[in-house]
Amino acid sequence: MQVRTFCHSTAKRLNIAGAVAVCLGTASAWAASVGAEKAAWGEITQAHLLEVIKVLSSDEFEGRAPASRGEERTVAYLQEQFKSLGLGPGTPDGTYIQKVPMLGITADPGMRLVFSSIGGGERMELAFSREFMAWTKRELPEISIDAPMVFVGYGIVAPEYQWDDYKGVDVAGKVLVMLINDPPVPDRNNPSALDENVFKGRAMTYYGRWTYKYEIAAAKKAAGCLIIHETGPAGYPWEVVGNNTGERFDLISPDKGMSRAAVEGWITYEKARALFAMTGRDLEALKRTALDRSFRPVELGATASLTIRNTIRRIESANLIAKLEGRDPKLRNEYVIYTAHWDHLGIGPEVNGDKIYNGAYDNASGVSGVLAIARAFTKVNPPPRRSVLFLAVTAEEQGLLGAKYYAENPLYPLQRTVAVINIDTMNVWGRTRDVTLVGLGMSTLDDVVKAVAAEQGRVVNRDAEPEKGFYYRSDHFEFAKQGVPAIDPKEGIDYIGKPPGWGLEMRGKYTAEDYHKPSDEIKPDWDLSGMVEDAQLLFSVGYRVANAKALPTWSSGSEFKEKREAMMKAVIRNK
Ligand SMILES: [Zn+2]
Repeated sequence: MQVRTFCHSTAKRLNIAGAVAVCLGTASAWAASVGAEKAAWGEITQAHLLEVIKVLSSDEFEGRAPASRGEERTVAYLQEQFKSLGLGPGTPDGTYIQKVPMLGITADPGMRLVFSSIGGGERMELAFSREFMAWTKRELPEISIDAPMVFVGYGIVAPEYQWDDYKGVDVAGKVLVMLINDPPVPDRNNPSALDENVFKGRAMTYYGRWTYKYEIAAAKKAAGCLIIHETGPAGYPWEVVGNNTGERFDLISPDKGMSRAAVEGWITYEKARALFAMTGRDLEALKRTALDRSFRPVELGATASLTIRNTIRRIESANLIAKLEGRDPKLRNEYVIYTAHWDHLGIGPEVNGDKIYNGAYDNASGVSGVLAIARAFTKVNPPPRRSVLFLAVTAEEQGLLGAKYYAENPLYPLQRTVAVINIDTMNVWGRTRDVTLVGLGMSTLDDVVKAVAAEQGRVVNRDAEPEKGFYYRSDHFEFAKQGVPAIDPKEGIDYIGKPPGWGLEMRGKYTAEDYHKPSDEIKPDWDLSGMVEDAQLLFSVGYRVANAKALPTWSSGSEFKEKREAMMKAVIRNK
């Protein structure tokens, strides 16, 4: 009964062949497959989930930093888990490991950033870590810049919003000084709100991410790029940027990073204001002009000089991958991928007598979820038509590196990768009436999530904190960037038996007290009943996508749609 309602309503919503595929022919065949699915739900238990989290977040795993003893233990453990589930190796060479070559770059903290007014004799020096942070992505033992600075507002070129902060001004060889985030453009009709039609209002777009800013600086052939830090819009205090003085990891690029701007970095808001004032400019006033399309780059009348000395080493980390072969002889060459990053921050500065950053919630929980889902897949009968890959990626905390490496060096063609379901942290606070889908509205995968959630008596909501730009902050994004439809589900916020607001309060408490700290450990008050439901839901989502006739697609207006369509056209041409 519920089955039929679901099929019809989904058919109406999708209004495409996809609905037929979701329903898979007759209602009875569908009911049988739903029955099989629900039977497999029983494989996902709190005890299993907790057991994996316990192991991965134990002190023996030393916080799971890439290229550490913690990595060795994690790699051994996950391979053993995959094997004991009876899952095949995910790489064509018959192993569970995709090697990820990386660079470790440690910059000499003795570096000095000096601003000098051009022809004015004024000079100011900034203190490393306290007032500025800088590094180079070029694989060089030493790099120096001494170049004029240009304020480029938010530094964005976004044709879909008719926005170009550069206006054709040549900034090659200059040091670009940029504001953080994307422009909070006020709504003309209601100045207390933001214009929803420009950079999605309060929500952050990719143009607001610092990674974008360094990418555009490179594209403009700038010598350097300094972002002005502001605590409110960043969502984190200066220390999160400034304390990051240790080794930085990066993927090895064929051009040794030479296409990047020579220097990338941040400066504090106070120092930026002083810099502007040094040559008679007003940061606050210029910041206001940057909210308008008519903004043009402003020469600051000062140079920035800096020398960075690096210690560089090459390391090899690992993505772990297991494969469940699909049952359909044709469709088994298409793939649904579950991803979760296994890495965390390792051993670091001591906080309250503890220096092991255990990463229980972030992201032992997600890896545990993927293993639980994998277990359900090994038991579901019939098995899925398409193949399913379980991918535990490395170095997410270093900038989504493991996922980026896979997406750029895929083991199976991305054209035949139909969807990515990423799990970065799972609900540890009890059952919820809702599920959060970061980036809700971006692809037809939403409909599958909504359908399963409805069968659980739950609803799907968008992220309650869109300004934090979570869609761009975990591994699924590297797949989306390459065009593969990808979702980033998170725990809901409406907890059963708790007052409204409690869920967000718990999230806020975690962010303030435990996020990226040694205290991210299993807590006595954890309740994994909600995690079980979320894992069941995500298992069913992947199972249905792996069985459906139609492939998931990006929604119109999604920034990744064009790339996917071009990719799929190429496939049709090649057939
Ligand atoms: Zn994480």
